[in-house]
Amino acid sequence: MSKNTDELFKNVISHAKEYGFVFQSSEIYDGLSAVYDYGQNGSELKNNIKTYWWKSMVQMHQNIVGIDAAIFMHPTTWKASGHVDGFNDPMIDNKDSKKRYRADQLLEDRIAKYQNQGKTDKAEQLQAAMDAALKTDNLTALRDLIIGHEIACPISGTRNWTDVRQFNLMFSTQFGAMADDAEVIYLRPETAQGIFVNFLNVQKTGRMKIPFGIAQIGKAFRNEVIARQFIMRMREFEQMEMQFFVRPGTEMEWYNYWKQTRLKWHKALGTNPEKYRFHDHTKLAHYANAAVDIEFEFPFGFKEVEGIHSRTDFDLSQHQKYSGKKMQYFDNDLNEEGKPYGNYVPYVIETSIGLDRMFLLTLVNAYEEQDLSEGDKKDSRVVLKLHPCLAPVKAAVFPLLKKDGLPEKAREIVSRLQLDHNVAYEEKDAIGKRYRRQDAIGTPFCITVDHQTLEDNTVTIRYRDSMQQERVPVDNLDRMISDLVSWKNLLA
Ligand code: ATP
Repeated sequence: MSKNTDELFKNVISHAKEYGFVFQSSEIYDGLSAVYDYGQNGSELKNNIKTYWWKSMVQMHQNIVGIDAAIFMHPTTWKASGHVDGFNDPMIDNKDSKKRYRADQLLEDRIAKYQNQGKTDKAEQLQAAMDAALKTDNLTALRDLIIGHEIACPISGTRNWTDVRQFNLMFSTQFGAMADDAEVIYLRPETAQGIFVNFLNVQKTGRMKIPFGIAQIGKAFRNEVIARQFIMRMREFEQMEMQFFVRPGTEMEWYNYWKQTRLKWHKALGTNPEKYRFHDHTKLAHYANAAVDIEFEFPFGFKEVEGIHSRTDFDLSQHQKYSGKKMQYFDNDLNEEGKPYGNYVPYVIETSIGLDRMFLLTLVNAYEEQDLSEGDKKDSRVVLKLHPCLAPVKAAVFPLLKKDGLPEKAREIVSRLQLDHNVAYEEKDAIGKRYRRQDAIGTPFCITVDHQTLEDNTVTIRYRDSMQQERVPVDNLDRMISDLVSWKNLLA
């Protein structure tokens, strides 16, 4: 990260706290690492992102339905899915500082360093060696690379490393009140399995015909070895996932469809398209036959926000094997020979986006520090240029003065608008200061009630981005806000 982007990112983090978007969890007890709480504006923004996703995936597709599965699942689920045996990160400890690191991350940092120094060949060589070691789970080779490239612990500065070991990322807990018969169960590390185990329930009760999808938004938990970059990598986070069940042999067609469709979803928000790119996986997960990440250029570089995975029939077949229940679909459409396709285990294309990462992307993208100085008159503002559909507060209503019946009139406007929209009322401080506070949380409209309002029922509307003002009738406000924040603007 260059000094400027580093500083910008720090400013975004403090802004998120100062304006009630994100707080460190249990802050009064010095916080809990990689766990965060969403504040009054953060939870609104997060809900709006969820709504955008849900509407575009579920409401806009007649063949996709949504569910809400429990976080706790039968422990066999995670044996079948491969998470008990395979959901690991390679970790290494420094013997002096006693700090634990992800071996691949130490190497990635070194690759980035080589690149910054213009040592492209060295960076590429190390990348290839690391990829090969990860692909074959060769832990000794990973350690050899750390030693060979003289990577030292950032805390102790020494190269006194333990062996590299696999570390399972699932949290476990006891299920049941009695210690004797308590069973170890896991907090789900992904929401997808809640969809797979309900495949038949949904297919039968919803009379779903292939191709069809099941979507879900919910919490997931991973005991990440190291957590950094704010809400980028958390131990408790939310995913928005959709599993799309298709006929075997058609999966690549659907994989490409979802790849493009998901990128379109991101770009509809008006984000600079150059900030997005696809990254094809070279190391495929045990269940996948194709996988791509949608990456966004954060201040700390391009990073994954969403994954699109062709998961084959792996999950359903595994659940079939472990549960003894048939996870099959009867396809009575006719094939080329005029015969029904018959029974099969469907193939799956998954789209999986981290809600918190999308939140961070949205915040970083919207954050702007503007210098508004004119001549000797210094002025500046921080504005969140959020898409109006995502803005936590849609409009703020201000009485110009705290007297002469203006507050009463302003409150009357609020009570009308709040039936459809999240609106704020503010009467403290000068109007200019109130504008700045609303700019900082991304409110698209500010509405000021003055003496003229009492005479002709008009108000001043001030727009967040242009800072232009105009006089409009009170009766138009509802429609103006509705038009601006209509989901049609994103979905049509
Ligand atoms: P990474 O490589 O960054 O660990 P991943 O490839 O393990 O991510 P997936 O298992 O594909 O991620 O999960 C899908 C999405 O869930 C990711 O694209 C990301 O947005 C989100 N996600 C995964 N792990 C975390 C986490 N620890 N904190 C926040 N979001 C996460």
